[in-house]
Parts: sequence; C-alpha cells; structure tokens
Amino acid sequence: MNRTKIEFLGLPYPTLPTTCKTNKTNNKQDRKAYFRNYYNCEKWRNYNLKKQKEYRQRLKIEVLQHYAPNLRCRNCGFEDIRALSIDHINGGGSRHLQQIDKRGNGRTEVLYRWLKKNRFPDGFQVLCMNCQWIKRAERGEVRQRGK
Ligand SMILES: [Zn+2]
Repeated sequence: MNRTKIEFLGLPYPTLPTTCKTNKTNNKQDRKAYFRNYYNCEKWRNYNLKKQKEYRQRLKIEVLQHYAPNLRCRNCGFEDIRALSIDHINGGGSRHLQQIDKRGNGRTEVLYRWLKKNRFPDGFQVLCMNCQWIKRAERGEVRQRGK
C-alpha cells in the first residue's frame, strides 16, 4: 500500500509505532506486512485501552459496592460514582498507598486491586471527594500531601 492509497482511505500516514516494532523496508512484500502489522497494532492498542478502562470501572464498582452496597457516600449520601472513592477510616491513606504501590504511580486502582486481593478488609469506607477533603482537613492530614 503506498502513501496515496492511504491518504485516499482518509487515514493519516502512519509512523512506526513504538509498541510494535517492525523493520521498515522498501521491499513490496515487507511493506505490506509492515502496514498490516501497523494497523493490527493500532487496533490492538485501542482495544486494550478500552478493555483496561472497562476493567478499571468494573473493579471500582465492585470494591465500592462491597463497602457501600447502595453506592453512596457514607457521610452525606452523595451518589455520583465518579466522585466516590475508598477512604481509610483511621487515616494514614497516603502512607498505606505508598506501601502497596510498588511502582509508585499513585493510582487509586492500586488500592482497589489491593482491597480485592485481600478480600475486602475492615477499616475502609466509601466517601465522596468533598467529605474526604473535609475529613483530611479536620484531621490535619492535608499537610502530608504538600510535603
Ligand atoms: Zn460525602
């Protein structure tokens, strides 16, 4: 497939994807294989991103539902799942996250996975972001983040 044909299809001229490396050559047969590989990689990558997103969403709901079957903030009853997350009842959430987050990417997904793996231990509850920030302010935990 040559450049004109690709532009005709309304697709941008592809660059070598970093995730799937193939040698780019001028040999007609190889180039065909390269482009087939490229589009497959793209498809695969998009598919994986979508799957990962779905997985994270499902995992979050599963964990939240365990601690709050009605999917509401324990404190104020707020029910938009996008603003709900797991709160460490006795505080120390950031320290705990540092311990379990080996890669240090600070994603809440790590906590959800940890909770599931440890069969939903006690000491956690579902709070909305507002209530979490208020709780942190009242407990004086806010400063830990700025350090
Ligand atoms: Zn709340």
